Amino acid sequence: MFSRILIANRGEIALRIIRACRDLDIDTVVVFSEADRNASYLHLADERICIGEAPSADSYLNIPRIIAAAELADVQAIHPGYGFLSENSHFAEICRSCKIEFIGPSVATMEAVGDKIQAKKIAVRAGVPIVPGSEGAVEDVEQAITIASRIGYPVGIKAAAGGGGRGIRAVHNEATLRTSFKQAQAEAEVAFGDGRLYLEKWIQSMRHIEVQVLGDMHGNLIHLFERDCTVQRRRQKLIEESPSPALTPELRAAVCEAAVKICKEAGYYGAGTVEFILDGEDFYFMEVNARIQVEHPVTEMLTGIDLVKWQFRVAAGERLTLGQDDVQPRGWAMECRINAEDPDHDFRPSPGKIESYVPPGGPNVRLDSHVYQGYVIPPTYDSLIGKLIVKGNTRQETIAIMRRALREFQIHPIKTTVGLYREIMSDATFHRGQFDTSFVEKYLLAR
Ligand code: ADP
Ligand code: ADP
Ligand code: MG
Repeated sequence: MFSRILIANRGEIALRIIRACRDLDIDTVVVFSEADRNASYLHLADERICIGEAPSADSYLNIPRIIAAAELADVQAIHPGYGFLSENSHFAEICRSCKIEFIGPSVATMEAVGDKIQAKKIAVRAGVPIVPGSEGAVEDVEQAITIASRIGYPVGIKAAAGGGGRGIRAVHNEATLRTSFKQAQAEAEVAFGDGRLYLEKWIQSMRHIEVQVLGDMHGNLIHLFERDCTVQRRRQKLIEESPSPALTPELRAAVCEAAVKICKEAGYYGAGTVEFILDGEDFYFMEVNARIQVEHPVTEMLTGIDLVKWQFRVAAGERLTLGQDDVQPRGWAMECRINAEDPDHDFRPSPGKIESYVPPGGPNVRLDSHVYQGYVIPPTYDSLIGKLIVKGNTRQETIAIMRRALREFQIHPIKTTVGLYREIMSDATFHRGQFDTSFVEKYLLAR
């Protein structure tokens, strides 16, 4: 096992990784930008190194500076968290060429699944259904129109290198496709440094179902069941739960098996997630996230398995001592993403100082957050300031516990998504568990 590692991330996930390391008796070195200089989680690490100014390009995305910090601090491995460099195969390659282990799958696997067009080809080879669409990248508007008329409108234009809910747009007719395509290409080029686009049938009413997997370098790979992430806004997840209220035992078994097949085909090791579209009784592969995910605590609460600790063990070359039968989900788990955003004003970011803060607690409540009274949320990064995760025996009991925890949770004067979640926890449609990814948009319109 490693004795000293570096965390190339910030905020709640940096703290989550520090906690796993403390449990495993691994020393931690955390990097930070000028914007995070005063954050208290930095003092829970054994060492902290400032790597630059607030903009991500000067700090959390700056490969030379992170490698220099890792060399200086003499670490054996780097944990990239999620976002930032976590899915950058070039960074993984540089780490390993410097004899620093990158906590993630192999470079070849990262390259293959990081390109969403390639990933769909892997799914096809694994015998898993994909949404009808273009076979590879679409070169120009004319080709896009030909493909769209074959698969039928609406179609989704998706960036091969997209992520974080960005680089996706639905178009409902040829005229819009004509005007959107070039724009999408240019945007993808700017946002991801890769303008390649692909088309796929837009599923009007879908649920987002994903499967957590865990594999080692010796060919062992298991799944840890699904998470249902259908409650989204602008393709970004807000509430996640497991089990999914929409899966029958048969469908669940089929989706989980499909995820394992895809990962085996991709030679996957480490923790990862395979995302699917659920359309009635049909499911289709969507993408692979080759990293720890924001919502991983849902699975941890449900199974009692610590995914971040396993990431370290597997990266150190250890064998998975868990078999598929050792993964026994118990009850229900649910997460609300706490964002510093104003739901009453189009979810605009609400950075600034937290003057008063009362976190929830009590039985079956987990709060993953780096914030506290007096913490100043910088305007520079993602607005996620924490995650509230609860568990119960049934879905109904879990919702009641979430409602209790949200009621206790006080964060002022910045705006957060807590109030919206309090409302949703009392919503009849949410209680029934029957909704699609348009749930939040519809809820806000009807309110
Ligand atoms: P998860 O499935 O773990 O919730 P998200 O898609 O919400 O993942 O992304 C997690 C974080 O990573 C967010 O901060 C998101 O903005 C960022 N992210 C993910 N993929 C990319 C990408 N390709 N480019 C930029 N940011 C990304
Ligand atoms: P990202 O890499 O940004 O996470 P995904 O491909 O995982 O992108 O899609 C993100 C979200 O966009 C999905 O959870 C879903 O809400 C929506 N989406 C993606 N593809 C489709 C599709 N073909 N039809 C309908 N919705 C889709
Ligand atoms: Mg996704």
